[in-house]
Amino acid sequence: MTLLRMAGVTKEYKLGKTVVRALRGLDLEIAEGEIVAIMGPSGSGKSTLMHILGALDTPTHGTATIDGADLAELREGQLVALRGKKVGFVFQTFNLIQTLSALQNVELPMIFQGISRSERTRRAKDLLTRVGLADRIRHKPNELSGGERQRVAIARALANDPEIILADEPTGNLDTESGSAILALLKGLSESDGKTVILVTHDPEAAEIAHRVIRLRDGCVSGEAGAGREATSTDSRGQEAGPRHGEGEASAPSPGTSPGAGAAGESEGGDGSA
Ligand code: ADP
Ligand code: MG
Repeated sequence: MTLLRMAGVTKEYKLGKTVVRALRGLDLEIAEGEIVAIMGPSGSGKSTLMHILGALDTPTHGTATIDGADLAELREGQLVALRGKKVGFVFQTFNLIQTLSALQNVELPMIFQGISRSERTRRAKDLLTRVGLADRIRHKPNELSGGERQRVAIARALANDPEIILADEPTGNLDTESGSAILALLKGLSESDGKTVILVTHDPEAAEIAHRVIRLRDGCVSGEAGAGREATSTDSRGQEAGPRHGEGEASAPSPGTSPGAGAAGESEGGDGSA
């Protein structure tokens, strides 16, 4: 069943008198349980697309539906509710709250859904156990390795049992070994739990866990392939080399993630007061 559908989606940002066309007419369908990798050079619109797929933002033109709900027809409060229930976000920079323990970080999105304290704690412990951090639940983010922080972030993304996991360069700040563990976790979410996993990546290994690779270029889909290995060997070598070396977008502000978005809005810097 199609879970996410985009038809003729454009996204324009107005900056003074200039208009940035981040997405320029995108058609896309993603089925329940699929793992989709989104690849493409820096600035090609990957994060913008992820924000719309996760109802953090709405298209300028065109139609975006999540599980049949047309984002354009929802009020802000309904968008918040939709993403709170259906979407879990994972970011390159983890976006954990520094002053909270791993357990508290995972509990946080459940507070917004009105889940009781005892149930929150029980569920958060289960999730942290599932990602292999049963013995780290009292640790704060700065007492954890990068790979461990990203596992906390995945546990947090799962807190409200969303159907959709959106991961924007989840292995971008990790060493190869930790990155592989994160990819295995994401793959398991699709295979064991039937979750729909969409990940933005420059990492050929990440593309290999995907059922499908979608390539963006200048805000359009420039290619699509059924398996990661095929796609990276056909049209992408040169194209991917730039962003991987430059990593320019790692430091770029990520607009759209800041508006209070439940789990998505918190910042690694600890400024998201709980
Ligand atoms: P990617 O994730 O592929 O690097 P983005 O989706 O972040 O690309 O950005 C696509 C284009 O839109 C870029 O040119 C970027 O500068 C621009 N852009 C993204 N967000 C905003 C914003 N909030 N305001 C203005 N321009 C933006
Ligand atoms: Mg990006």
